[in-house]
Amino acid sequence: MTVFSQMAAAGHEQVCHVADADTGLRAIVAVHSTALGPGLGGVRIREYADEQAALVDVLRLSEAMSYKAACAGLRCGGAKAVVLGPFPRDREAAMHALGRAVDGLSGRYVATEDMGMTEADIALLNEVTPHAVGRSLEAGGSGDPSPHTADGVIAGMRASLRAAGRAVDFQDLRVAVQGCGNVGLGVIERLLAAGATVIASDISQQARERAAGAGAQIVDNDRIHAESADIFAPCGIGAILNAGSIAELGCAIVAGGANNQLAEAEDGERLAARGIVYAPDFVINAGGLINVSDELDSEGYNAERVRFRVASIESTLDEVFAQASAQGETTERVAMAMARTRIGAGSR
Ligand code: NAD
Repeated sequence: MTVFSQMAAAGHEQVCHVADADTGLRAIVAVHSTALGPGLGGVRIREYADEQAALVDVLRLSEAMSYKAACAGLRCGGAKAVVLGPFPRDREAAMHALGRAVDGLSGRYVATEDMGMTEADIALLNEVTPHAVGRSLEAGGSGDPSPHTADGVIAGMRASLRAAGRAVDFQDLRVAVQGCGNVGLGVIERLLAAGATVIASDISQQARERAAGAGAQIVDNDRIHAESADIFAPCGIGAILNAGSIAELGCAIVAGGANNQLAEAEDGERLAARGIVYAPDFVINAGGLINVSDELDSEGYNAERVRFRVASIESTLDEVFAQASAQGETTERVAMAMARTRIGAGSR
């Protein structure tokens, strides 16, 4: 497949290859859509098998950012950058080279953090371009996105409980949380504070200890999905919902913060066939994006507006569940269609 045919498959607007001879930096920026606003998305630093793998990843990730932003009602489009690792040794010079490339896109792409990037790296980008967000609170930015993602997951759980015909009350609920990192631990703490019983797992001993310290009961990570629980919340890695695991799920609801939870599109149907309420990941985990996107507001970052928008993930999911039920369609497809409609309206 040519680059143009790969772009055409999902309607990408622009793909930009970046090379810096001095530092050895190699990066690809993909702008999926600017119909609703500047394409906002993280810079991912990763070692890829080859250039084609990097291109496939950046196209897929940038498209997903468009849908996430559109469902969250943001005036942002979707874009992403990947740096083909290992990252050059001269980090400062390479970040400056990347920043100049971002600057050349004149705001069509706004960079933020993803795997391998830190607030310090955003500060380096900002030395050469204003088109990078995710600054620390001290620097007037939006700070750590994870607490906002955790807040959004809790809001999404409320909508999911309603869709499952349950009382919207965490008291006496049993919730299984897989992955106790920044987002997972935040979700655990909020659930415990609201009176739920939490079972949790992680592949990291340190993360398990933190979760246990917060009051969660630790269970086997390979079997947590099969534990009897009201809600299963994937907050670690993606592709956790597949033909094998879905058949074993012991919950009524899947609602968690991890990205790309479905291993393949058919898994949405498998969940629906089992009568399990599934909150599409790119809708329920938008809290972090909502937070960082607020730095783009002309009046600057506003914590109150962020809280309001994150809370509205609940009503967005109410709408997704209602439409899915009315149309006999999966929640994933309904959310995707909702995003495409908003993007289509934006381009007109
Ligand atoms: P993190 O690195 O802080 O935590 C991830 C945790 O998952 C770690 O404790 C890690 O040990 C654990 N983990 C990794 N592989 C696992 C496995 N196979 N089984 C169980 N646990 C495993 O990352 P995070 O910021 O908490 O993000 C968690 C997920 O949420 C990721 O999928 C991320 O893409 C997604 N997400 C995060 C944010 C955010 O604001 N941080 C926003 C949207 C989506």
